[in-house]
Amino acid sequence: MSSKDGENVKSEEEEGQDSKWGYDLFPERRGKFSTSWSRVFMGFEGKEDMDKMKCERNVYKCFKTSKLVQIMLGALKASGCEVDLRRHIVCEVCDSSVSGGYDPVLNQIVVCQNNSRSEGIVQGILTHEMIHMFDYCRNNLDFKNLDHLACTEIRAANLTHCGFLSAILQGDASLTNFKNRHQECVKSKAIQSVLAVRTVTREEAKAAVDRVFTRCYRDLEPIGRRVKPNSTDAKRAHAEGFLYGYV
Ligand SMILES: [Zn+2]
Repeated sequence: MSSKDGENVKSEEEEGQDSKWGYDLFPERRGKFSTSWSRVFMGFEGKEDMDKMKCERNVYKCFKTSKLVQIMLGALKASGCEVDLRRHIVCEVCDSSVSGGYDPVLNQIVVCQNNSRSEGIVQGILTHEMIHMFDYCRNNLDFKNLDHLACTEIRAANLTHCGFLSAILQGDASLTNFKNRHQECVKSKAIQSVLAVRTVTREEAKAAVDRVFTRCYRDLEPIGRRVKPNSTDAKRAHAEGFLYGYV
């Protein structure tokens, strides 16, 4: 797999492979998107600059105010992969099917300015993609390997979408039956995410998620522990975040 800072040169064969792992969802990345002035005058395009400004403003607000984003920024910094807002986060026009993504070749998080317009959505994208960034920083992840992709999607769903991280932040450790419902949520979200970026069948995606589930679901870095019902884990995890320099 290529290096993190984009100094790698891709062969033509590799270029052709990109569509297979979701790269074609981000037309600006490949120079396929450009505004034409006649379309701007017709009012079809040209709002891209405004979208970009709004998107960048939302990203900036999340960096300043979101606890989730700050935990991940701290974790990345502690792992030697400090995030520079201007270098590592970009707002771009994307395919209408995606809200954001992580580009491992350039080590950049893409926020889709045309599809992700609220601060809440941008926060969700940033935390999700920063889990991928963290995995790439820590494990030299190969995104072309379906099992690796499934693993990092499991971790992103585990730590963000299915309420684990927000449960920690709210100190809500009284969820009953948390474990089973949570596992189901993580599995289905991870399968969806794999299907969104790779041209594989649902069965292939599910098989990959099942193969790596136990190991990747257990891996709770950078948070450190899973919240158990009626325990003080939640408060401890958040409190210790400060000790590790994560928050
Ligand atoms: Zn993902």
